[in-house]
Amino acid sequence: MRLRNIAGAREVIAESPFVVHEEETQRGKWKQLFGNDAPLYVEIGMGKGQFLMEQARRNPHINFVGIEKYSSVLLRALQKQEEELLPNIKFIRMDAERIAEVFAPGEVQHLFLNFSDPWPKERNAKRRLMSHQFLGRYEHILADSALVEFKTDNRSLFSFALEELAAMKWEVSAVTYDLHHDPQLSQNNVMTEYEERFSMRGNTICMLRACPPGV
Ligand code: SAM
Repeated sequence: MRLRNIAGAREVIAESPFVVHEEETQRGKWKQLFGNDAPLYVEIGMGKGQFLMEQARRNPHINFVGIEKYSSVLLRALQKQEEELLPNIKFIRMDAERIAEVFAPGEVQHLFLNFSDPWPKERNAKRRLMSHQFLGRYEHILADSALVEFKTDNRSLFSFALEELAAMKWEVSAVTYDLHHDPQLSQNNVMTEYEERFSMRGNTICMLRACPPGV
């Protein structure tokens, strides 16, 4: 069975208190939803949630929102959250194309993109989460001094991201082609599921941090 076809996943998500439903109605109101003034960190394409849940454990004074397109993948994170009940994390099942409908200008302090799908065919370049189309969407929601952090083992996707950032005049503040051997940038690194899998195969991990122009 393909993971994305787990029977009943949509129904479980529809009833889960950990998932924000009708997420557009929260635009500009995320602090009220969490009931505090903490900064908001978002991960797009969080998969089964290993990375974001560890971030939430380590950083109780930050609010986290995980976005995932597929119900059956998100379901795995919900199962973990049912056991842990972390107070500072919520989930949304949606395509990140709509991200600017869900967060108001300046509402997001930090955006994580981990091992995003490479969409290797040129005609699908606009679907890559570091494409200029997506960077434009992020510009609408990021706060002053906000950062985007991107990790991948895919060198051509990483080069593409750097080109798109340059074309959009974003400022790149950190780059490494071997995160796990970078003495500074590897500090406090939280491994994702894909990161564990690919680094076990011997792949090196690329990482960058960038912020939009004028931020
Ligand atoms: N970030 C996780 C990790 O590093 O282990 C999962 C990586 S997996 C290759 C990419 C994930 O991003 C998948 O779960 C996929 O469904 C999700 N995804 C891809 N495009 C997306 C989009 N436009 N909106 C929301 N989720 C997306």
